[in-house]
Amino acid sequence: MRRVREMLKSNREKQLHRDIKQQLIVAGKVLVAEGQDDFTRGHISFRLPDNPDLFFMKAHSIGLDEITMQNILTIDLEGNVVAGAARRHSEVYIHSEILKARADVNCVIHTHPTYSVALSATGRTLKGYSQPGALFFESLGIYTDTINLIRSHAMGAGVARALGSNRAVLLKNHGVVVTGKTIEEAVVGTIMLENGAMVQLLAEAAGDPAPEFPRADLEKARHDISQPEQFKINFDYLARRVKRRGKQAANRVK
Ligand SMILES: [Zn+2]
Repeated sequence: MRRVREMLKSNREKQLHRDIKQQLIVAGKVLVAEGQDDFTRGHISFRLPDNPDLFFMKAHSIGLDEITMQNILTIDLEGNVVAGAARRHSEVYIHSEILKARADVNCVIHTHPTYSVALSATGRTLKGYSQPGALFFESLGIYTDTINLIRSHAMGAGVARALGSNRAVLLKNHGVVVTGKTIEEAVVGTIMLENGAMVQLLAEAAGDPAPEFPRADLEKARHDISQPEQFKINFDYLARRVKRRGKQAANRVK
């Protein structure tokens, strides 16, 4: 009886892991479709619900849209690969140190999106000039130690400190790190951060932006757009759109 129960449990875990990997594959394609790619740079990770000291992560040398069931790595909170044969990103410590520091975070995304990098270069923080901007109202850290890759435990811990309890952190002149409880939340958050940065830079370039709405108004917007259902609905839409466009492209080739 015990053996049967254990077998069922292990089957459930295997299915759970397959589902998460499948979602990471879709997430990578959505991020690229939304312009978050920079050659093979950028990565996404997700904590294993049944083993919180381990996480799945995209491998080195492939694009975000080339994640497969076979090349996803399993990594521990010290950054060691415990399963998988692909090459590990040297910036693994962004993920391991944030997942270590933030028990409430399960998904970490790091990308190099143009407008967010440009905003980080101004030294100014993100303003609530748009609804995506409001999502990060008083919830965006800034890491200013270096432009270089985050290639050590100490540097990863520095990024985790700069993130603090915020939703995301700008790595000055380098990129963004966005967190979420779910893959949906982190993916949609990454896209919204870039959009918020774009609107702000356009408004500032146009001249003299009018003041933001008052704090209470921005707090309400932040609350309303950060509901888990909102992230899921919008992620699912982007996932359907990626699939649809993939099919259309395949038909054109025929
Ligand atoms: Zn980077």
